Amino acid sequence: MSDYKFYLQVNKAFDKAATYTQYDRGILEQIKSCNNVLHISFPLEKDDGSIEVIEGWRVEHSHHKMPTKGGIRYSLTVNEDETMALAALMTYKCAVVDVPFGGAKGGIKINKSNYSDSELERITRRYTFELYKKNFIGPGTDVPAPDYGTSAREMGWILDTYRQLSSDLNAEGCVTGKPIQMGGIRGRTEATGRGVFFGIHEACSNKEDMKEIGLEPGLEGKTFVVQGLGNVGYHAAKYLSEAGAIMVGVAEIDGSIYSKKGIDLESLMSYKKETGGILGFKGTKSLSDTYAVLESECDILIPAALENQLNEKNAGKIKAKIIGEAANGPTTTEAHEILKKRGALIIPDNYLNAGGVTVSYFEWLKNIQHVRFGRMEKRFEEDSYKKILSVIEAVSDRKFSEKELKVLAQGGGEEELVDSGLKDTMINSYNQINELRKLHGVDLRTAAFISAINKLGIIYDQMGIFP
Ligand code: NAD
Repeated sequence: MSDYKFYLQVNKAFDKAATYTQYDRGILEQIKSCNNVLHISFPLEKDDGSIEVIEGWRVEHSHHKMPTKGGIRYSLTVNEDETMALAALMTYKCAVVDVPFGGAKGGIKINKSNYSDSELERITRRYTFELYKKNFIGPGTDVPAPDYGTSAREMGWILDTYRQLSSDLNAEGCVTGKPIQMGGIRGRTEATGRGVFFGIHEACSNKEDMKEIGLEPGLEGKTFVVQGLGNVGYHAAKYLSEAGAIMVGVAEIDGSIYSKKGIDLESLMSYKKETGGILGFKGTKSLSDTYAVLESECDILIPAALENQLNEKNAGKIKAKIIGEAANGPTTTEAHEILKKRGALIIPDNYLNAGGVTVSYFEWLKNIQHVRFGRMEKRFEEDSYKKILSVIEAVSDRKFSEKELKVLAQGGGEEELVDSGLKDTMINSYNQINELRKLHGVDLRTAAFISAINKLGIIYDQMGIFP
């Protein structure tokens, strides 16, 4: 792991895709480079009075669109290379799904389970202060969001800290993934996993593509294994299960479990909460180690933990026909080639986990517009639908029940509009990259990079260079 270079891997994938585009070297180098890299260290006074120095990063990969956007990660894996790679992926991901932001990423090198809640709050607030002082946060500058190890709680601390420092009218837009009461949006918590579901659903709906990998179209009855039951993994598993797919395996930090008959997600989550792990869950077999389940029999494998999980060591043993990259960078370049050779369909991270940033975009729009989506039109739409339905009743012998009226005359509120926007984005973007895949005879990852480079290249070309 120590000599693993994530940023290099992202750039290798970029370079491969660039050969299918028309942009000259200068433009491609501009797109690829990281514009700002901030490395900070600051002291934390621990609850017992001792002092520890904390290290953190924030990388703004591309300023072609402002603000820049990307999550904040709390993990011991965090370092400059990882943050640069993740920031670059954000630029390409935003371009693939037409979200008008530059890419960014932040991280603090800690294992959050080693700190109390009040220590985590002090770390988060001090980190935000450092970002503010260095002009690395603001609704028009750089807007963080949750990532591995962080959630709405941390985003709430970030907003509150920012507010103490700035009287900006649009302050709520300085961070997304906040609690709803603090200006967050309905649907953001589940957005990344929901987007993963929409993406896999779309891929599985394509008869021709499924035939190519020897699977029937549709999700019903397909088996899946998920690595990491955190925010993204849990929500992806939830929506896939609701659509009739069967979760047969799970990997978590403490180990991995398998059951051919299927694993009930909600009971497993309660068990995990009670015991702190997944091992020993009723009706499942505990496997030798946490990575073993990745190699088990299933149709879809969803890595939803960290990068570098499918690598040279295990790629040859992975049996899944579809790899749904919910995590960022879970498959190394070498593993990608091995899986591809075996005929697996890899749905790449720079498309598949874009649901989070898509709904973050909606949240930011809500914040700078200062109005909730649907507030103006929901009631108007409902009244109009009711009028239409009453005309239908008048000209036919059909009388709608109260229950039917509720469904048929529903106007779009925030929750429905966010979900519709997310679904539309994931479906359209999948079809865009799938067409490029077929056009150039490449895989979906290369196609997603081609899509991003084409969109970014035009902007860079027209932007020119500031003296
Ligand atoms: P999270 O902290 O909520 O959950 C991660 C889970 O993975 C945890 O339950 C952890 O115990 C587990 N885990 C860690 N190492 C593991 C291992 N070796 N084997 C099995 N399980 C392991 O994080 P998250 O927000 O769900 O993020 C997961 C991935 O998705 C990351 O790569 C992140 O960059 C990516 N992502 C997240 C978002 C988002 O909105 N949160 C958006 C886009 C991409």
